[in-house]
Amino acid sequence: MEINIVSNKKKILLVEDSRLTALIAVKSLQSSGYDVETAATGEEAVQKASGASPPDLVLMDIELAGKMDGIEAARRILKTRDIPVVFLTANTSGEILEKIKEVKAYGFVLKGIDKAAMLSTIEMAIKLHEANSHAGMFERLFEKSLDELYIFHPESLKFVAVNRAARNNLGYTSEELKTMTPLDLKPEFNLESFRKLLQPLLSGEQEQLSFTTIHRRKDGTHYPVEISLQLTDYRGEKFCLTLVVDLTERRKMEDELKEREEILSAITGTARDAIVLLDSQGNVMFWNRAAEKLFGYSREEIMGKDLHRLVVPDERLYKVHRKAFRRFQSTGQGNAIGKTIELKAKRKDGREIDVELSLSALKFRNGWHAVGIVRDIRERKWQEEENRRREERLRMMLEGIPSPAWLVSRERRILAQNKAAKSLLGTKIGDYCWKGIHGGEYLTDKYRELFKKKGLLLPGAKCYFCRGDEALDKNEPINSEVELAGNIWDTWWIPLGEDIYLHYATDVTKYKKMEEELRHLSVVDVLTNAYNRRYFTQKLEEEIERARRTDGKFSLVMLDIDRFKRINDNFGHNAGDLVLKSMTEMIKNRIRKIDTLARWGGEEFVILLPDTTVNNAARLAEELRESLSQMDIPGVGRVTASFGVAGYCPGDNVDSLVNKADNMMYEAKAAGRNCVRYMNECE
Ligand code: GH3
Ligand code: MG
Ligand code: MG
Repeated sequence: MEINIVSNKKKILLVEDSRLTALIAVKSLQSSGYDVETAATGEEAVQKASGASPPDLVLMDIELAGKMDGIEAARRILKTRDIPVVFLTANTSGEILEKIKEVKAYGFVLKGIDKAAMLSTIEMAIKLHEANSHAGMFERLFEKSLDELYIFHPESLKFVAVNRAARNNLGYTSEELKTMTPLDLKPEFNLESFRKLLQPLLSGEQEQLSFTTIHRRKDGTHYPVEISLQLTDYRGEKFCLTLVVDLTERRKMEDELKEREEILSAITGTARDAIVLLDSQGNVMFWNRAAEKLFGYSREEIMGKDLHRLVVPDERLYKVHRKAFRRFQSTGQGNAIGKTIELKAKRKDGREIDVELSLSALKFRNGWHAVGIVRDIRERKWQEEENRRREERLRMMLEGIPSPAWLVSRERRILAQNKAAKSLLGTKIGDYCWKGIHGGEYLTDKYRELFKKKGLLLPGAKCYFCRGDEALDKNEPINSEVELAGNIWDTWWIPLGEDIYLHYATDVTKYKKMEEELRHLSVVDVLTNAYNRRYFTQKLEEEIERARRTDGKFSLVMLDIDRFKRINDNFGHNAGDLVLKSMTEMIKNRIRKIDTLARWGGEEFVILLPDTTVNNAARLAEELRESLSQMDIPGVGRVTASFGVAGYCPGDNVDSLVNKADNMMYEAKAAGRNCVRYMNECE
């Protein structure tokens, strides 16, 4: 290395109080190629030497007129600047020479000696100073370098110099290091291996050697180092110059970086969403495992490729994406940045998939990068579609029911309803259950009370029209007939899962009436409206069964209108019918509710009297006979009948009992009619 610290033309500051001497000296110096500046006093010299353009040498007269002599002036100059000073003196007395020694001078020149001697002294002083300052500068550079620098002898391996940075890191003093070799610092080497390492340098095969190893400090701790070795020549002797870089910080940073990378890859690797990073060109920089799964491209396949080219479903869309990306490239902005959007993407296998994309922008290495988190929403889309279909099916089902129908939640809110519900009952979606609750009319007492007090809709309030939660709990449809304001509703609560039930009610009042009618017709005699023989027989069987179980009593009364044939013959069939109806009416009015009057056949009737003894039954028969005989039937006049009475005896059945009563009735006929005969005891 060559450092040029002097310009070609040297400048000399001549300090001389004798004008004449100065003039002569200036002339000879200038003629030898020097720039010369002069000063007449010590003070002026100090001022000029420490100015903006200092001289390369000061030629200083020792004996100066004024307060400050040349020695003092030189001392002051040297305090601020390292400038060689050559003294001019008229004599070489011991006193003068002692004085010169006190100052770091570069020699002296006797006044009046020849010009050549003076110039040679000056030239030598300048060269010596230059050499000194170069050495000093290199020493300082070496010593103060922040890198660790070592110089050792390639043969003995002994350290020649070790700089401050190295000493500080190692903890050794210069003194200690003088007796040491690089082997004392490098535990990974022994003498043999170290010499082998140096071999290519020493043989001239290689100019420089670089390797990494570890250094051991004085306190026994180690640090990783990178070493560069170079062989240099100084005055015919070879030295090894070593630059050592402590790698501790770099290693720490590398470890931290590695750790961060591991954390990132652990997070992104287990993430369920695809995580993709695009560089400023739109090429893939990062691609996690979920991305591989979602798009079907492996990391190796897609790294560095244009993502849009691969996953955008068609050419037109691709162009749109590219355009948007170009804008993003320069501004870091875009419509989708910072948002979550749904779109279609193409997999490697060509299939299109629904995805949700959350995009954000990231600026590093001077370019805008896009980070995309992509979620597979096929399942969600399918679920949404399925829900839509399900709703549609439910709607169709609701509309398929001809009567009002609702979908109701467990808390009794109407979730959906059909047109019939809306138009016939005016219910609203979101309302609680059923209009009846609002009015409180069909609430159970407890809830009606609360409703009246608070005036609130009560979620979950019980009304007898609401058996929905019962159906949900049992997970079975419930069906019942509910009577409301004189109408009968066939009502269903059908659980549909998810705490929802279908509720609908059909007004069946009309059918109920028809059913009642039919039932009535099947048990009564149409002409008289008394029960028919079939119904009576059934009733009698039940009564026999009951009496058998409870050891109870009951009786039968059998009656037959006297000479009825004649009535028909005399007054006509209609008159006969009227007699039958009138008599039935009369008997019905007379007997109890629990008694059963039936037409046994023609003009023959039978009465079942539960909890009645034969005697009491006979008394009733007598009353009836009396009443009938006194009844005036329009167009006919008076009519009589004959009565037979029998009581239930253990062992009786329908036939035996009817026979007994029938026999008694025939006895009454035989006895002259219009009378009562009864069987008193059980045999
Ligand atoms: P007796 O006193 O012995 O019972 O004489 P009777 O005439 O009542 O006896 P009989 O059993 O011979 O006559 C019953 C008559 O009742 C025969 C039939 O014409 C008449 N009859 C049966 N059912 C009806 C009916 O529904 N309407 C009318 N008008 N007559 C009926
Ligand atoms: Mg008869
Ligand atoms: Mg008769």
